[in-house]
Amino acid sequence: MVMAGCVALVVAAGRGRRFGGEVPKQYLDIGGLPVLRHAVLSFLDHPEVDAVCPVIDPGDRAHFDAATAGLDLMDPVAGGAERQESVRLGLESLVRLDPERVLIHDAARPLVSARIISAILAALERAVGAVPALPVGDTLKRGAGGMIDGTVERHGLWRVQTPQGFRYAEILAAHREFAGRHLTDDAAVAEEAGLPVALVEGAEENLKVTTVDDLRRAEEILGAAPVMRTGIGFDVHRFGPGDRVVLCGVEIPFERCLEGHSDADVGLHALCDALMGAVAAGDIGSHFPPDDPRWTDTPSETFLRRAGELVAERRGTISGVDLVVICERPKIAPHRAAMVARIADILGIAPGLVSVKGTTTEGLGFAGRGEGIAAQAVASVRLPSGPANS
Ligand code: MG
Repeated sequence: MVMAGCVALVVAAGRGRRFGGEVPKQYLDIGGLPVLRHAVLSFLDHPEVDAVCPVIDPGDRAHFDAATAGLDLMDPVAGGAERQESVRLGLESLVRLDPERVLIHDAARPLVSARIISAILAALERAVGAVPALPVGDTLKRGAGGMIDGTVERHGLWRVQTPQGFRYAEILAAHREFAGRHLTDDAAVAEEAGLPVALVEGAEENLKVTTVDDLRRAEEILGAAPVMRTGIGFDVHRFGPGDRVVLCGVEIPFERCLEGHSDADVGLHALCDALMGAVAAGDIGSHFPPDDPRWTDTPSETFLRRAGELVAERRGTISGVDLVVICERPKIAPHRAAMVARIADILGIAPGLVSVKGTTTEGLGFAGRGEGIAAQAVASVRLPSGPANS
């Protein structure tokens, strides 16, 4: 069982198909990743959050599995007919874990920042509950029949967001006590129980996706001020007896082969390390240990495909990769176009983003003596702005 001082309960059980489609809005894409995945990543990335527990509609299981592939989440809990019931069921599922604090978050808010999560948790030092909120800026009118019926004093009014944070034992007891009361949010449940709830500064970016316009705005926010990151990779494999080498995914007839685990594709190995480096996701050896027999004779495109996934899982897009293969022979130039096409295909990016070059070392060193081949790669990755990436 996970050690859990703080669990994030991400509520994704709503089946609102307000955009008229077949897919609930929390499973629609923003910038290439589902809304739910964005929401969950914010909590997984936060150092003070120990575990993330999703609450879903079991009928959406296939959408959920696709949206969260590869992420380290608790088993999803089946939600109820209404949001309040879903939250209560999620809280009940944590009884054995008994966390100190819970963060209850709507999956339809994909852009929650680390700053808000930290502020909510800090506020729980002095209050039983804490919610992110923004002051109401617009003048508020009461209307009837299309006519103004009066002005509402907006001073002291707040728009409340999620994640709403609570001490676990207290919010569980409150949810049990007021089950079925149709309260509008978890803070209202806490208020009903007489628990003090603090207001913490929210953010406009922490919007709730309810309309197609919201989806577009979320996409704009993610696309604005992206962070560029660069990774570097280097690899060497020695020659051994054989009749072909695999370089950058292309098999080249040759009077020797490259030795090493997998297919010893020195070019793709360097490129994997560059991509993993750009998103600080370890290196090829940490993902595919050379002493693990599973990877013996594995085509290196398997490794490269995984490196591409690691970038995508962190909401990154590849802006460009550049590779130098260092050897006297075989000559790279005749195979360059095929190598570019192969790499672009494996990574699912345009060939214009891929560069492959060959060079010699003028006969110097191990490459010059024809003892092996070296490769260097750099990869540039564009990541959405946000506390996790900057
Ligand atoms: Mg290698």
